[in-house]
Amino acid sequence: MNIGVLALQGAVAEHIRSIGLAGGHGVAVKQPQQLGSVDGLVIPGGESTTIGKLMRKYGFIDALRDFSQAGKPIFGTCAGLIVLAERLDGGEEPHLGLMNMTVARNAFGRQRESFETDLDVQGIESPLRAVFIRAPLIKEVGDDVEVLASYKGEIVTARQGHLLAASFHPELTDDYRLHGLFLDMARQAR
Ligand code: GLN
Repeated sequence: MNIGVLALQGAVAEHIRSIGLAGGHGVAVKQPQQLGSVDGLVIPGGESTTIGKLMRKYGFIDALRDFSQAGKPIFGTCAGLIVLAERLDGGEEPHLGLMNMTVARNAFGRQRESFETDLDVQGIESPLRAVFIRAPLIKEVGDDVEVLASYKGEIVTARQGHLLAASFHPELTDDYRLHGLFLDMARQAR
């Protein structure tokens, strides 16, 4: 299974490593034409404003809307989750606007800017180690979105068909099970 990692900014190498640990083949995607040769795409964490700007500049917005339209899976982590959202809190312009949810950026405040915790995630047998860094929260989801994990009552992982989103950084630990789940989604889609 060839899984692309959008390589405009952010934690690209770490995702490629986790995809490999989960049994897939990760490739850095720098140009929209490369999307034709991958079975799924990860949008990494970083800075969503920067990633969004570069996506516009390099023609990724329409290319990824087509990619999603074709049923190809997309996995957004942290800033990548923000990029996937249809609605951003505070009236900010959405980027891809693919996933039926409202997202608040930097939602944990300064006290809890970055932290680690063990999360119960639906579909994953035992708790997953999750690293949160200036993380966003999912404030509200549409009926077609399945909540996979919450932290202190707030949604931090969700799935809408072929779209998967996590507030945290699953690529910063050796626990590759969420990447494994995404690989399963890519297998099913193919
Ligand atoms: N705070 C970043 C943003 O708003 C996301 C942080 C991250 O990806 N670790 O885009």
